[in-house]
Amino acid sequence: MQIAEHIDLTAFNTLALPARARYYTRAENIADIHAAIVWAQRQGVPLLPLGGGSNVVLRGEFLGLVLHIALHGKTLTPRGDYVEVCVAAGENWHELVQWTLQQGAYGLENLTLIPGTAGAAPIQNIGAYGVELSQFLHAVRGIKIDENRELELSVAQCELGYRDSIFKHALRDNFIVTEIVLHLRAQFIATIDYPALSERLADTAALDAVQIERAVRALRQSKLPDPAQWPNAGSFFKNPIISSAQFSALQKAFPDIPHFFLQGDAEAAQNGVKIPAAWLIDRCAWKGRRLGTVGVHSQQALVLIHYGGGDAAALLALAAQIQRDVEQRFNITLEMEPGIYPR
Ligand code: FAD
Ligand code: NAP
Repeated sequence: MQIAEHIDLTAFNTLALPARARYYTRAENIADIHAAIVWAQRQGVPLLPLGGGSNVVLRGEFLGLVLHIALHGKTLTPRGDYVEVCVAAGENWHELVQWTLQQGAYGLENLTLIPGTAGAAPIQNIGAYGVELSQFLHAVRGIKIDENRELELSVAQCELGYRDSIFKHALRDNFIVTEIVLHLRAQFIATIDYPALSERLADTAALDAVQIERAVRALRQSKLPDPAQWPNAGSFFKNPIISSAQFSALQKAFPDIPHFFLQGDAEAAQNGVKIPAAWLIDRCAWKGRRLGTVGVHSQQALVLIHYGGGDAAALLALAAQIQRDVEQRFNITLEMEPGIYPR
């Protein structure tokens, strides 16, 4: 294991924010991770596992060890009505989706074109177009940092929720994912309840997984800025989930407010109502607005863009202004989705 010092992280985050790591190393196998943990503990510095850098805001210098997760390899084992897929944490998520479809293992087609690594996928239980990782995740293997001990967590133990997991709570900053185990479908079942997707596929005869993957990819490419061209971290805020009482009051003031009852029906309203954050931001006239080096994407108000020459302070100041306006107008607090480092 080689430790580099004072490393520029600009190329390691999709927001292209200027940031540095006091110490940096790449882990290509589990032994590298154990060694990195021992090293960081001896130095008394924190450790930050980094995958593709597509869901982080890096500000200033991280005065610890950035551990780039570069473990590779995947296996696929048919097990009757499902297919078990074990994936090392450093594998690219989008390439994994393509590979599973080529192998005749189904379920991930709605999750195509999500940037980043397989190891980061359980951290926020990635989701898109009506599908979440939680539907296919079987287990997560990794290392608990404080004990430097290998551990397997069942999907139930991962406590996955809406863009949430145990890795953001009880195991926050204390677990490195080394491998995920997926149980995919041996037989294809289409999931096209998501309105934008069902509209696009309405006239498609004999639907298959490849057509869904293509449709999702086309939808994403039509709406989302490519980070290579317009540096961003995807959705900057989570969609807020509010109580049915708060929703009723809001609907009186804003009859056209879009909303989704959790679990899909009005009777489930006591479980909360999801409001698209993009609509709230748009209503506060932020969509397409630019403040110097940073701004809000013109096609999708949930995406903040770094136009270049800016830094995390400028981006977080923009985010704070948006949060303040949404709070004042709707009495809803928007929660940021990306992790901010140093914390
Ligand atoms: P990173 O940004 O490197 O890390 C994210 C967090 O996970 C950090 O806290 C990091 O410390 C931790 N982490 C990373 N790897 C490990 C590991 N091996 N062990 C422990 N902790 C780890 N997300 C969605 O859910 N749905 C979407 O549709 C979606 N679309 C996106 C579109 C764009 C254009 C972009 C830029 C982002 C999008 N995202 C989406 C967010 C992002 O792609 C996902 O959260 C992705 O899983 C992050 O992967 P990463 O490897 O880049 O993680
Ligand atoms: P959209 O279709 O414009 O819809 C806006 C929001 O409404 C979405 O965020 C979605 O919540 C919610 N929604 C729509 N139909 C729903 C339904 N039938 N039931 C429950 N909620 C519903 O969204 P978009 O911005 O173009 O994104 C499309 C998909 O890609 C979404 O699933 C989104 O989460 C995902 N995406 C995520 C990121 C990220 O960084 N996290 C970035 C880009 C896209 P959900 O977000 O819960 O689906």
